[in-house]
Amino acid sequence: MTDTIVAAATAPGRGGIAIVRVSGPAVPRIGHGLLGKLPPERVAITAQFRTAGGEPIDHGLALYFPAPHSYTGEHVLELHGHGSPVLIEALIRRVLELGARRAQPGEFTQRAYLNAKLDLAEAEAVADLIDAASDAAARAALRSLEGEFSQRVLSLRQSLSELRSDVEAAIDFADEPIDVLSDQSLKARLEAAMHALAALQAAGRQGRLLTEGMTVVIAGRPNAGKSSLLNRLAGHEAAIVTAIPGTTRDLLRERIVVDGMPLQVLDTAGLRAAGDVIEAEGIRRARGAMARADRVLFVIDAAADPLGAAYLEERSLLPPDVAVTVVFNKIDLAGHGSDAGQLPPVTTAAPGSPPVIRVSALSGEGFDALAAHLTQCVGFEPGSAGALSARARHLEALSQVEGCLKQAARQLSAGNAPELVAEELKRAQQALGEIVGVDSTEELLGRIFARFCIGK
Ligand code: GDP
Repeated sequence: MTDTIVAAATAPGRGGIAIVRVSGPAVPRIGHGLLGKLPPERVAITAQFRTAGGEPIDHGLALYFPAPHSYTGEHVLELHGHGSPVLIEALIRRVLELGARRAQPGEFTQRAYLNAKLDLAEAEAVADLIDAASDAAARAALRSLEGEFSQRVLSLRQSLSELRSDVEAAIDFADEPIDVLSDQSLKARLEAAMHALAALQAAGRQGRLLTEGMTVVIAGRPNAGKSSLLNRLAGHEAAIVTAIPGTTRDLLRERIVVDGMPLQVLDTAGLRAAGDVIEAEGIRRARGAMARADRVLFVIDAAADPLGAAYLEERSLLPPDVAVTVVFNKIDLAGHGSDAGQLPPVTTAAPGSPPVIRVSALSGEGFDALAAHLTQCVGFEPGSAGALSARARHLEALSQVEGCLKQAARQLSAGNAPELVAEELKRAQQALGEIVGVDSTEELLGRIFARFCIGK
C-alpha cells in the first residue's frame, strides 16, 4: 500500500502563483479536509484552503485528477495558491496533518514510472528537460520524453529478440537439414541491427553533449587575457546561464553555451611557483581542475610573448594527459603578418604539439574559429537535428550492446556453436532493457530518482 506525498511543484521563492501537488490514495480525504469537498474530476474550481479549525490559509484553484488519469497514475490534487513561501509552507503543513508525508526528490516521477506512465529513459528525460541549458538541449530532451529514444531502443530490442528466437530454434531443431546459422538473411538482419544501433549511439552522443557539454580550463600567465577570453566566449552567444555555486576565490566557474553546446569554463590562478600558502592552494586546485578537464586553453599574450615562451616554460607543470590548445590572444596588438601566434619550431616540430588558435578578446576576431575548434574537439555537431537526450548510463549500455553484437557476428561468421550467438543476443537484449527500465534494479532506480528536484 503506497502512502500519500506532498510537495511544492513550483520553484522555491516568491512568485505570482505557487502550486502544491499531492499524490496518493489519501487524496480524496485530504481534499475534503482542506477544501470541505472534493472538486469534480479534472475541473478547476476556486476554493478556500482551510486549517483544521476552519481558518483560511489561502484561497486559489483546486484540481482533482483521479487515478489512473494523472501524472503519477495515482489520485492527484493540485492546489494553486499565492506564491508566498510562508503560505506554501502553511498549506503543506496542513496537508501533512491530513495524513500525507513530504515527497523525496523525483518521487512524483518515480511513481509515474512505477505506474507505467513513463518508462525509465522518459523519466530521465523529464529531469533533462527541466535542467536544459539551451533550446537545442530542451528539444532533445522533449524528443526523448515523447518516447523517440525509448521507441528506438525497444524496436532494436524486438529485432534482437526475434533474431535470438530463430537462432534458438536452430539449436532446438539441430537435426533438421536447414542450417539457420549459415543463412545469409540472419547475417543481414544482424547487420541491420548494428546499423540501427550505430545511429542511436550517434543521436545519444549528441544529446549527451547537449546536456553535459565539455569542461574547459583557461590557464596562462596573469594579464594574458584569460578573463577577457572567458567573457568574450560567454558573450559569443550572450548566454551566461548560471554562475555555478561553489565558486571559490581561485577557481571561477561559468556555464556558457557555445554553438548550442554547454561549456563549463574554469578560470584558474596561474601555475607559477606561489608566494604564499593561499596562492599555492589555488595552484594545487588549478592543476586538479586541469587533470579532470576535457581541454585546457593555454592563453598567451601575443603582443608581449609572440613566440609563446610562457607555454614552453609552463607546459611541464600541466598534468601529463590533458588535451591543450594554445590560444594567442591580443592579435589586434601583435599585428598581422608578424610571427605572432607561430609557436617556435621546437614545439611545432615536436610530436603531439598542441593546436594553435589566434584571437583577440578585445575585437572578437578568431572566436568563430575557437568555438568551432571546441565543438569539433568533442565531436559535437552544431544544429544537428536528430539529437536525443541520453545519459552516460544509456551510452554505456549501448556500447555494451555494440560489444555483444560484434561478438555475435564473429561467432556467426566463424560458424561456431549457435548457443554462443544466442547468449550474446540475450546479453544485448538485457542491456537495452536496462535503458528503458525493463530489466532495472531497485538500486539503479534509487540512484536515478535521487537526482531529481523535489516536487517533480
Ligand atoms: P587575465 O589576468 O589573464 O585574466 O587578463 P585580463 O583578461 O584581465 O586582461 C589583461 C589586460 O589585457 C586587460 O587590460 C585587458 O583589457 C587586456 N586585454 C585582454 N584581451 C585583449 C585583447 O585581445 N586585445 C587587447 N588589446 N587587450 C586585451
